[in-house]
Amino acid sequence: MTDFNYIVDRFDDCQILRYQVPGFETLPVDQKLYIYYLNQAALAGRDILWDQHYKHNLTIRKLCEAIYTNYTDDKQKADFVFFVEYLKKIWMWNGIHHHYSMDKFIPKFSETFLAEQISKLSLDQIPLQAGQSVETFIASISPIIFDPNKDAKKVSLDSSSDVILASANNFYDGVSQQEVEYFYKQMKVEWDDSHPSWGLNSQLVKENWVILEKVWKSDAMYGHTIQEITKYLRLAMDYANDNQKLIITLLIEFYQTWDLHIFDDYSIAWLQDVDSHVDFINGFIEVYGDPLGLKGSWEALVNFKDIEASKRTTIISDNAQWFQDHSPVDPRFKKEVVKWVSAKVITAAILGWDCYPATPIGINLPNAEWIRAQYGSKSVTIENITKAYDEASKWSGSLDEFMASPEHVAFEKKYGYQTSNLHTDLHECLGHGSGKVLPWISKDALKEYGSTIEEGRADLFALWYMADPKLLELWLLSDAEAYKAEYYSYMLGWAITQIVRIQFGKDIEESHMRNRSFIAKWVIERADASVLEIKNVEGKTKLYVYDYEKLRTLFGELLAEVQRIKSEWDFDAAKKLVETYGIKIDPVLHEEILARYATLNLAPYKWFVNPKYELILDENKKPIDVSIDYSEWYADQMLRYSREYSGS
Ligand code: ZN
Repeated sequence: MTDFNYIVDRFDDCQILRYQVPGFETLPVDQKLYIYYLNQAALAGRDILWDQHYKHNLTIRKLCEAIYTNYTDDKQKADFVFFVEYLKKIWMWNGIHHHYSMDKFIPKFSETFLAEQISKLSLDQIPLQAGQSVETFIASISPIIFDPNKDAKKVSLDSSSDVILASANNFYDGVSQQEVEYFYKQMKVEWDDSHPSWGLNSQLVKENWVILEKVWKSDAMYGHTIQEITKYLRLAMDYANDNQKLIITLLIEFYQTWDLHIFDDYSIAWLQDVDSHVDFINGFIEVYGDPLGLKGSWEALVNFKDIEASKRTTIISDNAQWFQDHSPVDPRFKKEVVKWVSAKVITAAILGWDCYPATPIGINLPNAEWIRAQYGSKSVTIENITKAYDEASKWSGSLDEFMASPEHVAFEKKYGYQTSNLHTDLHECLGHGSGKVLPWISKDALKEYGSTIEEGRADLFALWYMADPKLLELWLLSDAEAYKAEYYSYMLGWAITQIVRIQFGKDIEESHMRNRSFIAKWVIERADASVLEIKNVEGKTKLYVYDYEKLRTLFGELLAEVQRIKSEWDFDAAKKLVETYGIKIDPVLHEEILARYATLNLAPYKWFVNPKYELILDENKKPIDVSIDYSEWYADQMLRYSREYSGS
């Protein structure tokens, strides 16, 4: 394991890592082949996500890749070096906007360089529209790439503006926030307890003064790509068990019909399949990319169970009712009977969009509230990914720079990996799975604060229980002190060090970053000097925690309040909490932390390349096995994906 090379590439604020897939080679052949075709289906949807992020992304990617592969001049030339950095960034974030700051990348190469390079391409290499000349193409693409004011933010959560018009994403076209809210409110009249997630799989547009949905299905918008996905799903079916066949059949039917009731049937069948060793996510799933939380980004992941590590999560899910009953929230907002909460630790076989190259480390689905209430949910911790992070970060020096003392660093190295994995288990399985909402209120009632509040709720649930003696009783933690590693690194990470990801002068934009900030800062404001202190020691801001039990009490108080906000859909309280603690950064602290971080020469974002899988065929061209290879480099993988999975 030690000679596995985790680090692949480094540019701008990103580092690219590899992850291993332990156990793949020893799986039964049928499961390997099943994974192979599911992987193909996971990779096939790439262009949907790119287009969802921004309507010009695919054109820009095709153009830049053509320039990159045809470039024959001096590769040390500054313009070309900057151009390569730009291309690596847009590959990284699946488009021309940063996924966390939401800001459009402004290239450091010149407009003249771009125009020169375009004119050197042959006509078939330029993504021209029908009848378009090269000159008009250059004139139209230049401001899209270079003008900092044009489509400046992918997702705007700025509640003082129209968040739909201020967002450059491609879920809406020509409609205002008011029109979107009205359009979907009309549907609410018919809503019953089990309403589907209206709007999840469509683009809402205004054409000739009429507002309508352009639906995503195999013979409509994204049709070609969806046909590719379903082609591979059908091939996977040959190696599926009965549960898996049912799930895939429903998913294909959903892709063909666009019927969200079928999507719910698929979600229920998926969450009830807890016995299959291989599992996957494929569909229009997470709604973070839409400021109103309605539209699902196309997402896929293929994985198999880590049986040994899953013993831990089985204990957690078996005790879900106990955790629900003993949480510090108002009994009115607790589930009397916790429905199915299945939890497992998984090994990712492939990260598909929108888990690639930037991946979550835990997932809890489905998102539909009514399914969660009636059927429960399924949650996973992706441990071969957390392992890769842990290995790659061990020698980075950032712990020594930012933790208060060598004792803190030693404590973190001893317990940090164990407790952060456990935090993810608790966040996904119990946090997202816990609590109940008043049934008659709609899912989007917290609007642009909804995702942040939900993530905060799950984190707080995990933090509250991390220090509970019950975890020792259940053998989930080895030591009564271990939870302090998680408490300390949570407070340090989210009150102080996460701001290395943000440019000086900018706000926190992304939902998960906002939720962690509001938790840490809310707690700091209420903790006196006997609980914790943030002190400047020789020019360096340091965090000292003295009273971990009191810290736990504060996490508990905030959990009760956040659950109340969610259960009662208290928009004003959600807004106040997020606006007060989740968005702004103290400029003095920001400057200091950025300067200290710069001396370490690290990248604040660490994401992944996938392994490469290939079919092994017998003499009759029948697949008999699957090989796995870890040697592919970042740019090679991205260019291969464009060749193999981009038919539109
Ligand atoms: Zn979460």
